[in-house]
Amino acid sequence: MSDNICRICGFSEYRLYLYFRNKNRSIVICKGCGTLRTMPYFSMDYKEQELYCEHYIENEKDFRSFARNFMKVVSRHQRKGRLLDIGCAVGFMLEEARTMGFEAKGIELNEKARQIASSKGFEVTGWHIGDPAYKKSAFDVILLNHVLEHISEPNGFMKDISNILKDTGILVIGVPNHASLVVRLYRNRWYGWGIPEHIWHFDRKSLAYLLSRNGFRIKELVQNSQRYNFSKSLRKNSTAILAKIGNMVGSGDQLIAVAEKAWHE
Ligand SMILES: [Zn+2]
Repeated sequence: MSDNICRICGFSEYRLYLYFRNKNRSIVICKGCGTLRTMPYFSMDYKEQELYCEHYIENEKDFRSFARNFMKVVSRHQRKGRLLDIGCAVGFMLEEARTMGFEAKGIELNEKARQIASSKGFEVTGWHIGDPAYKKSAFDVILLNHVLEHISEPNGFMKDISNILKDTGILVIGVPNHASLVVRLYRNRWYGWGIPEHIWHFDRKSLAYLLSRNGFRIKELVQNSQRYNFSKSLRKNSTAILAKIGNMVGSGDQLIAVAEKAWHE
């Protein structure tokens, strides 16, 4: 990926936003579309990364609770049909979707995670969605949970998604939200920056821009912080309070956007 051109809007001028000395990387803001991106670009090999699965298995309770909340948002718009979870990891979201009655399939690049999800009885492939095996207009629901920020060519990726999504289907995206109260407190130390593997960093405005540029519009947007709980630590408690205030004023550090094809009425 060329480091000069924004792969979302095509502009090539940036302003420094944050610098991560220990990682020798910067986050810059595109002067064209306002999206934040990490520089220089880092290419992660997700296929064989060992720790990827452990992260999910060790934090199973949190991920299951997140999946339940995520699918609750989905169910306000669609309750049945064919669902594809792109980047399904070990399959917590697929399990939740199946319980709700969806015919759920997954895509996962990491081989070990794919095996675990498949062993739960799901059809999970490691194919790229542009593969002809994915038929045009095949899905009622496509999930992209914490995936978009890792994609080097978001516009091409959204085009592939649009092709396999039914005209009446919904695309549900979960990304970290950098424009939130908790991030103001944590700055560089916020977990959601995911440096260096997160290439892009979204807030509601830049996510809406990417979607509208690719023929989608947002039906519902949820901003929520789920991972901050009260404990014995004063610092953790002040963060938990801030996270809860953030949730109340619609400024949590997780965004869930339910989108539909823009020309669909
Ligand atoms: Zn841009």
